[in-house]
Amino acid sequence: MSDAHAVNHLIETPGADPVRGRVRWDPVHSLWNGGMAGATLVLAPLTVSPGAVVVFILTTGASLLLGHSVGFHRKLIHGSFDCPIWLERVLVWFGTAVGMSGPHWIIRTHDLRDWAQRQPDCHPYLSHASPLLRDAWWQLHCRLELDHPPGFNLGRVGRDRFYRFLESTWMAQQLPIAAVLFWAGGWSFVVWGVCARVFICVHGHWLVGHLAHTRGPQRWLVGGAGVQAHDVPWAGFVTMGEAWHNNHHAFPGSARIGLYPGQSDLGFAFIRLLEWTGLAWNVRTPERLPPRSELVRAVSVAAPTRFPGWTTVPIALIVSSLFATAMLAWYVGVPELYPLIGFVVLFMGFLIGLPIYHVSKRDGFRGWRNAVLAGAVAGTLLVIGMVFDPDAWSILLTLAAIGALAGMVFHAVIVSAGAPDTGLPARTGAALGIACVSVIAALESVGRY
Ligand SMILES: [Zn+2]
Ligand SMILES: [Zn+2]
Repeated sequence: MSDAHAVNHLIETPGADPVRGRVRWDPVHSLWNGGMAGATLVLAPLTVSPGAVVVFILTTGASLLLGHSVGFHRKLIHGSFDCPIWLERVLVWFGTAVGMSGPHWIIRTHDLRDWAQRQPDCHPYLSHASPLLRDAWWQLHCRLELDHPPGFNLGRVGRDRFYRFLESTWMAQQLPIAAVLFWAGGWSFVVWGVCARVFICVHGHWLVGHLAHTRGPQRWLVGGAGVQAHDVPWAGFVTMGEAWHNNHHAFPGSARIGLYPGQSDLGFAFIRLLEWTGLAWNVRTPERLPPRSELVRAVSVAAPTRFPGWTTVPIALIVSSLFATAMLAWYVGVPELYPLIGFVVLFMGFLIGLPIYHVSKRDGFRGWRNAVLAGAVAGTLLVIGMVFDPDAWSILLTLAAIGALAGMVFHAVIVSAGAPDTGLPARTGAALGIACVSVIAALESVGRY
């Protein structure tokens, strides 16, 4: 490898222009992504069961870890470690199974973006500079046609017959997965293990990509590049370490992306496991890469947080297992466990109250729009629920309100006691809280109470 920091599969083409081009509707990806979203929103609440949720978590985790993060990104795109070709093919199959596209498309999309972001200026499609909703429409339903695009040379990967097969059949790769899931648990497993999984992965990938190029903490800046990357701390765990994107722009050839204390990196942990078993070698990390002259330290390094990223992992695990137990109790109707449900709702309110207070305070209490928006969403869900079962929901509403109040007080107390006001735990909490409310409302609305 000549330059460890180069964009591997793109040819420096004279006259190539990353700025001028047109965004056009991409029927294949649009219908696929839209179809998965529609199927999930309609069918997932109707087919939910504890087993289906477990299937969703396991298949999502496996495809993101083995496929998207390690197989596609760190191996195929960046060549950040070496491994046997059969293992590479297995990992690339998992990457295709994520349901975003085939291996060749992912390399071209990634490398075009990588190249464009290093230029002084590029099209907003390539920099995620558009407002959130337009960016979502562009990235999930459209493609960019540059007037003068650069060339690509996919080399060995382009010639590999297995990869060509995956490229031409990437959507059909869901069929064997669906067949196994149907055999194991019927339509419920298929909806949650294929539609909901693909929906969450594709939309989550876009959201983290959008945030990682628009806001968040930075340690490094790449000199001369028009687009700089940010970390997305709340997503460090669920993205298998990919969300420490500021590090990735600084050291693109590194197999390790979470580099600093508190930055969890399950993808790198998996590569270390492969190395330990002798299945991976030449694992490249920043210490083993040549120094990069265009790298400068960011002026404003985010204040170190007293709640490092890793503490959110056990907290998330405890909360999710409590939540899962409560849902199970509710689903099968075990009255002895109803206090647990009450506790979970209380805690959920707590997790929602924390960020509302945090955001309002950071904006000098001008963040009332966020509070009103969050209140409107929660209120709508609760009103829908109360129509179905007024007694249960008035109790839950009261508990959620008490929890929210406690969250606000808690935030005020820890910040006045000297904890840095980073909002990291608040954002993690908000994500969990909103997920909990949505699932409860979905369950309630289909009469599972
Ligand atoms: Zn990037
Ligand atoms: Zn990359």
